[in-house]
Amino acid sequence: KNKVCVVTGGANGIGLCIVNEFAARGSRVAFIDMDRAAGERAVKIIKEKGAQGLFFYGDIAEKEVIESFADRVIKTYGEVDFLINNACLSRRGIITGCKCDDFNYVLRVGITAPYMLSKLFLNHFAPKAAIVNISSTRAAMSQPDTESYTAAKGGISALTHALAVSLAGKVRVNSVSPGWIDVSANLSDDYESRHSTADKNQHPVHRVGRPIDIARTVMFLCDEDNGFISGENITVDGGMTRQMIYSGDCGWIYSG
Ligand code: NAD
Repeated sequence: KNKVCVVTGGANGIGLCIVNEFAARGSRVAFIDMDRAAGERAVKIIKEKGAQGLFFYGDIAEKEVIESFADRVIKTYGEVDFLINNACLSRRGIITGCKCDDFNYVLRVGITAPYMLSKLFLNHFAPKAAIVNISSTRAAMSQPDTESYTAAKGGISALTHALAVSLAGKVRVNSVSPGWIDVSANLSDDYESRHSTADKNQHPVHRVGRPIDIARTVMFLCDEDNGFISGENITVDGGMTRQMIYSGDCGWIYSG
């Protein structure tokens, strides 16, 4: 049967690439996004290609929105094979004075919504279902002034193993931690020409990431042939976080 796949933040960037990959494999894709124009454009293209798609406009920080979206998905498709918690954003951090409401907003988008969707679909997951959460290499390392986003990413990484244990035998739960992914690669094949040699070569694989690098990993984790994997995180960052650099290495001198 055609799988039912739910994606948050599916109108742009990595989420759009995931939506398109699932649609190309014959899945029925339901996605939510607060970019109405981009969402409507994306679902139109999916349908023109002959796939089934459902776009729901809304902000996943809002409990009522999440509940209406889940309700609509269940009423339309009956069950869910794959839930991809992709949407997130940043409201920066302590240096620029990220306010309490802004900090909480990012946590609602990045952690609460993935938890709530998992809960709302709990009795509607198909056999061999999978959840994939999109975290970030920033769950484990930081630039200054990133507290709201980094806290959300640390949260979704921990949420992943908690859910994997709680949903044991019912749903596998894994995460992907992207490094630098140039989302404009969705729009043009020559995206690499926009990156400097330093941008590329600082990555051990000598290029910046593309959304398809993440979408492929999501497909791998959803594939039931890989059903022995649960509670795991896969880092997809071109090796960036495996490279140890001390002052004097790679032309970099500490000047702090
Ligand atoms: P993006 O900004 O290009 O796309 C995100 C999409 O999510 C947008 O369509 C946006 O409208 C939607 N969205 C954001 N907040 C929402 C909300 N509250 N309700 C509904 N929709 C919402 O971002 P991206 O780069 O594709 O990132 C996707 C995921 O990958 C995020 O979780 C991000 O943290 C993660 N990530 C991205 C990178 C990168 O370099 N691009 C690196 C690490 C992790």
